[in-house]
Amino acid sequence: MEVLKTAPKRVMAVTPHPDDCEGGCGGALAKWVKESGTVASVVMCTNGNKGTKDREMSPERLAATRQVEQRNASGLVGITDVVFLGHPDGGLEDTELFRSQVTREIRRFKPDLLLCIDPYRSTTHTHRDHRKSGQVALDAAFTYAWSYQHFPEQITEEGLEPHRVEQALLWGSEDPDVFVDISRYLDVKVDSLGAHASQMSSTREERLERVKRHSGGHKELTGLDYAEGFRRITFNLGSLEWQLLHT
Ligand SMILES: [Zn+2]
Repeated sequence: MEVLKTAPKRVMAVTPHPDDCEGGCGGALAKWVKESGTVASVVMCTNGNKGTKDREMSPERLAATRQVEQRNASGLVGITDVVFLGHPDGGLEDTELFRSQVTREIRRFKPDLLLCIDPYRSTTHTHRDHRKSGQVALDAAFTYAWSYQHFPEQITEEGLEPHRVEQALLWGSEDPDVFVDISRYLDVKVDSLGAHASQMSSTREERLERVKRHSGGHKELTGLDYAEGFRRITFNLGSLEWQLLHT
């Protein structure tokens, strides 16, 4: 177990639906941006156009609303770079198009840390889009983004360069081993969740209580009043040299 004391210079969160990122890592992102000058990017994989119980709401209107809400939420966290890939809600697939899009964003933004949802839960189920987005984000970071051989047109025609991400932190993990103290950022987290107004039926007070309950659950292990927990994956860059020589 580690309480993370350092901050990335550039961090990219690949997230399936509007509001997932704020719930999973909004506190850590806000902390890094405000305390360490981290530059943060969010890649929104779907347009969230199924996220309503309102039968009068059209998918098109909901998608437009959720894009505005995501921009507002990202603004509160301090995220300056928001990308909408626009895949249909519930329709995320591990396709060449999706892999190329995430690879392009990694090559363009050049993060040193990737954040995404843990796609490898074994005892609990999660939304299909969550699994797909986590898997493709990890695959794009290792190995697509670093290799000239993958999506070479991004390099020859778009002027991008291969980029190596060294680490990923996965939120929503059953086995978090890295924790970030978000005690001073509960308000930012709660307000950024509240910015997704179309998804919220709770009051601000109820949201604050929920965030406190969730982020306070690691106190015994970490000594932190409120923390976001992640599972760390360190990409084995050493083996890349071997792979490059043998492919
Ligand atoms: Zn979601």
